[in-house]
Amino acid sequence: MKRQKSFHNDKPTLYLVATPIGNLAELTNRAVDILKAVDVIACEDTRTSKVLLDHYSIKTHTISYHNFNEEDSAHGLIKLLEEGKDVALISDAGYPLISDPGYALVNKAVNKDFNVVCISGANAALNALVASGLSTNHYLYYGFMSEKSSGVKKELEKLLTFPYTMIFYEAPHRIKNTLRYALDILGNRKACIARELTKNHEEYIRGTLEEMQELDDLKGEIVLVIEGFHEDEIVIDYISVKEMVDTYISEGMSAKDAIKKTAKEMGISKNEIYNYYHAKNC
Ligand code: SAM
Repeated sequence: MKRQKSFHNDKPTLYLVATPIGNLAELTNRAVDILKAVDVIACEDTRTSKVLLDHYSIKTHTISYHNFNEEDSAHGLIKLLEEGKDVALISDAGYPLISDPGYALVNKAVNKDFNVVCISGANAALNALVASGLSTNHYLYYGFMSEKSSGVKKELEKLLTFPYTMIFYEAPHRIKNTLRYALDILGNRKACIARELTKNHEEYIRGTLEEMQELDDLKGEIVLVIEGFHEDEIVIDYISVKEMVDTYISEGMSAKDAIKKTAKEMGISKNEIYNYYHAKNC
């Protein structure tokens, strides 16, 4: 066990500083102070971050921290901490480590007992969630799904009975397919597309997955929020349960095996399928 009293020791600190997701004004005063005070700012992309740093007249030395050579970069930054330097890590937008690089560095810094401190700020997922109109009691931040259609389908199948709001990051050229797979696999649920958050063209599209099939040409940066599974969806899908079990039985399976296979395919427990099939005499 390790305890870190962030502001009561002399150890060097790795600051994880959240930066704006669009509107440059959304950088906190505290973040500006830290970015000016540290010895080095490690950026996901130094050219992208220059716009922000210039805007706030932050002249601190920057170096790049790339995802594709994260291990090497992390090693280099740990060396700086070992030399007694304070380091800030920023990504192109939002929180570092949230669908962005930084995990290898934080992991190493924690293991080596350096201070690791987060400086709050913007995050696309939370902006989208709180304004989506969907339940915020419990939620899953999923981030990006696979780039392949087959991967997306598998991931959505795994989430079929997940009972809480789900937040996905998505690229504009993939959103149409993702919306179609979501409707096919999850059924018609409430959803929200949050686009270009904090920017001039910010847009929230709230409705059902079915309604969203008509959307064309969604540009810019996108967060897709989908409501979680409700128990009563099983009742709605009841006819399919019966059809599937009956089909397998007609193909020669025992009722027990047919129920087992249906349960697996629908992502519902065997007992539930059994109860629906037998007790309710569907
Ligand atoms: N680290 C960031 C964060 O904390 O939100 C996420 C970085 S991830 C590489 C980029 C993705 O985040 C985009 O493809 C989009 O899905 C989402 N995103 C970032 N900025 C956004 C914005 N202004 N509006 C909507 N989605 C945004």
